[in-house]
Amino acid sequence: MNDEQQPQFESAKSEVQRKTLDQREQMTELMRLRHSCAHILATAVLRLWPDALLDIGPPTEEGFYYDFELKHRFTPDDFPKIEEEMRKITKENQVFEKSIQTRAEALAYFESKGQTFKVQRMGDIPEGEPISFFKNGEFVDLCAGPHVMRTGNVKPGGIKILKVASAYFRGNEKNPQLQRLYGTAFKNKEELDNWLLMQEEARKRDHRKIGTEMGLFAMDPEYVGPGLPLWLPKGTVLVEELERLAKETEFQAGYVRVKTPHLAKEKMYKTSGHLPYYAESMFPPMEMLEEDERKKRDALMERRADLIQLAEGMGKAIAPNPSGYTEEQVRHDIQKLETEITLLGGRYYLKAMNCPHHHRIFAAEPRSYRDLPLRLAEYGTCYRYEQSGELFGVMRVRSMNMNDAHIYCTAEQFAEEFRAVNEMYLKYFKIFGLDRYQMRFSTHDPARLGQKFVNEPELWKKTEDMVRQVLIESGINYVEVANEAAFYGPKIDVQVWSAIGREFTIATNQVDFAVPARFGLTYRDRDNTEKTPLCIHRAPLGTHERFIGFLIEHYAGNFPLWLAPEQVRVLTLNDEAPLVEYAKSITAELRAQFVRVEGDWSANPVKAKIADAETSKVHTMLVVGQRDLEAGVVSVRLHGKGNVGAKPRGEAIADLLASIRERRA
Ligand SMILES: [Zn+2]
Ligand SMILES: [Zn+2]
Repeated sequence: MNDEQQPQFESAKSEVQRKTLDQREQMTELMRLRHSCAHILATAVLRLWPDALLDIGPPTEEGFYYDFELKHRFTPDDFPKIEEEMRKITKENQVFEKSIQTRAEALAYFESKGQTFKVQRMGDIPEGEPISFFKNGEFVDLCAGPHVMRTGNVKPGGIKILKVASAYFRGNEKNPQLQRLYGTAFKNKEELDNWLLMQEEARKRDHRKIGTEMGLFAMDPEYVGPGLPLWLPKGTVLVEELERLAKETEFQAGYVRVKTPHLAKEKMYKTSGHLPYYAESMFPPMEMLEEDERKKRDALMERRADLIQLAEGMGKAIAPNPSGYTEEQVRHDIQKLETEITLLGGRYYLKAMNCPHHHRIFAAEPRSYRDLPLRLAEYGTCYRYEQSGELFGVMRVRSMNMNDAHIYCTAEQFAEEFRAVNEMYLKYFKIFGLDRYQMRFSTHDPARLGQKFVNEPELWKKTEDMVRQVLIESGINYVEVANEAAFYGPKIDVQVWSAIGREFTIATNQVDFAVPARFGLTYRDRDNTEKTPLCIHRAPLGTHERFIGFLIEHYAGNFPLWLAPEQVRVLTLNDEAPLVEYAKSITAELRAQFVRVEGDWSANPVKAKIADAETSKVHTMLVVGQRDLEAGVVSVRLHGKGNVGAKPRGEAIADLLASIRERRA
């Protein structure tokens, strides 16, 4: 039994939103099928456990669910029985019959059945929206549809119950706990089987599992903290190879590199706008006093203590104070001192983004139009406070290294810069063999200017037109989504699909025409006036953490040679001295060329050595025996592919070096 089939007692935190009639209209054929299956599931459960109370059964990304309250606790052992009953219902080919009820009729019906959750759910239906029932066979449900025509439209082989979980009614833990049965449905058995196979493959490729097996990263919540990954030597190879790729690519594209600290003063994030709006996603601040501030604080504290003593003396004194300094004045002065003390020093925040630091680098020197475009790049470490429940392996973490760069340019330079950024994305996709990708171009909503979006109608229009133009001209696969832009400009999220067809959002590309102004960034233009540059934020490789998590699944841990933590292992057929010498000299030659090579010249049988190298996912094995030594050749074996034949030693080494240099797939 795999994990997926274990009962899971996760609680559904957020309540599903009731679909509007418009959204229902737009439900795809597959969603109708799956939602119809939820009805069939409820029908089956009521046949098997007539005392079950029903909540709701919407379609989900992966299928559907239905929430029940009943004494019997569902276990995976019940699933075949439930599926069997569902199949029976599909074969009965019941019609989904719609009827409109008055509110009173509907309430009376569910009250008579004791279906208390349904009675409560009726309150969610807006006044004026018709209350519809859908009946299939003996089962009647409160539902606005849509469904397939008949239960027979669902193919019995396409149904599967996946798991059971607990969920509170309306997602609120103060409400009764229900049992949620998750299932999925496909057009036919073949599609279901393909999907199940893909799920199985995704489990095998789980980045946490492979990451542990290959020794790529470790988590140490007790000493280091949750969500703060430690990159082990083999994982660090991946990190550094990706960084090298980015550095080379960016160098050729005219970027310059910078280095910035991991924290900054509060003023930085108030200026950028991260505070207070983004405060929840940042680590709490550190209070810091400089040496002179500490001295000042000590002096103020001393003065405060004196005044407190004075005030207490005054409270007890019978005669009036000859100086005329009243107790009220003293109390007032104490308060003033206390305010002064709290204002000393500064608050520092761990950076959640690199942009503000880069803006300060732009501001560090006077800039002229001749300096633009200025492309500042850094693999910057950022810290974000993710809820502990949201953390997920290295895909969702609290410390991350971002393949960041900020391009400062003039409006005239924008289109060309933006086009070059997109080309860089495509170049990376090619290297990683990502043939399925999509750019999601998010634009603003003119109705929400000044609230959700910075109030610059002209700039919005201009930049969005420019971005759209570039996307169309480059022939890039993109979709446009309104109302999802960043506060300061249009944004592009890049979605990619792994080798097994799972979707990931890994990178963003954003235009910013607001924040440079907030930081007062200017350049001196040809006409000697000061102008504000545009800024492009881009991170094609996302963060090391997320991108490596993605690559682990994409490659199933079988990285291409240039990326493989252990690229080559030289294996001997036995441990005789001349052979060991030969193997050692090959190893030394490769190492001198910066190839990550290890040698295994133990007395173990070569079969065992090969098996060990296979388990460690070593990309290439060079196997040598006495005859290879005499002929000056090596036998080349590839991970997962086996022996590909003997080659002269020099040729084999040259091939390896070329494959690494060209970053072959
Ligand atoms: Zn329905
Ligand atoms: Zn940025």
